Amino acid sequence: MIVDRQGRRFRNLRVSLTAACNYACTYCVPDGKRLVAAQDELSADSLVRGVAYLMEAAGIERLRVTGGEPLVSPKLDVFVHGVSRLGLQDIAITTNGQLLSKKLPLLLDCGIRRLNVSLDTLDAGAFRRIARGGDLATVLKGLDEARAAGLKVKLNMVPLRGQNLDQVVPLLDYCLAHGFELRFIELMRMGHLAHDPNGFHQQFVGLQELLELIGEQHPYVQASAPVDATAIRYEVPGQGYFGVIANESVPFCRTCSRLRLSSTGWLHGCLSSSNRHYVGDLLDKPRHQALPALQRLLVSALADKQEVAFSGGVTIMKIIGG
Ligand code: SAM
Repeated sequence: MIVDRQGRRFRNLRVSLTAACNYACTYCVPDGKRLVAAQDELSADSLVRGVAYLMEAAGIERLRVTGGEPLVSPKLDVFVHGVSRLGLQDIAITTNGQLLSKKLPLLLDCGIRRLNVSLDTLDAGAFRRIARGGDLATVLKGLDEARAAGLKVKLNMVPLRGQNLDQVVPLLDYCLAHGFELRFIELMRMGHLAHDPNGFHQQFVGLQELLELIGEQHPYVQASAPVDATAIRYEVPGQGYFGVIANESVPFCRTCSRLRLSSTGWLHGCLSSSNRHYVGDLLDKPRHQALPALQRLLVSALADKQEVAFSGGVTIMKIIGG
């Protein structure tokens, strides 16, 4: 097992199935142009083999399928069927939910029981301004169907000053009423925001401010969370839970166990680092050739993790998945 000086190892893998997305969220892409699939994206079979090899070489136990938007990818079917046979402890998906109704039968068929759906507002006008794609009512319908099918759903919201701060409490109320756990994600200095400190600071909303906003409407107490969890969890007694991924306010690098594989075959050991390691060519090689080479690259990828805090990176979240 590859372990670093802080005792960290890779346990959770995120695979970005495609860089393509049907949204162009303001904080994720700067110019409003939706990202399309890269020319050199790997096939579903290569990515499934990548997951299998990384389970062996790095000790990966849990998988999250992300993107881009994973549900737009023509590879989704073959990929989720393929990884469902690998014996992972858990497979989850992060999606914007726009195609959830359509893809729900496939996800259920592959044994996927956990979803994170990104939703920054319940206001249709603000939704159009922030996501610059998709339709709010379609997402809400998909969420209702996922709930009715018994899936465990978390919602991800990035609070942004001037755009959706008035939605913090309505989104929490919606989640509490529907049995979803809301995750607030502090804005990260990624992509264009890494070059625009003013833009970042103008929009950034931190943990303390969020808790104050919530505390005006709901009593809450801190709740327990797994050791390597990125979110600080809170309970609204008798009603449910919410969490805050407070990468700026309370950095969690010391316990980070995440590894990312991009749709074009690059390993990323840290969201905040621009370093990446190409493994696309190894994934078509037989196991005995691929594993030793992968292990060497994993040592470098683990060394890319920050010691304490996320410092920001030019990598766009959509390329390597959230
Ligand atoms: N398309 C899928 C979705 O919308 O969930 C998966 C990919 S998306 C990049 C994953 C998550 O990253 C979303 O919840 C999105 O809000 C978040 N995200 C993107 N850029 C971010 C940034 N600069 N700071 C914080 N969160 C970000």
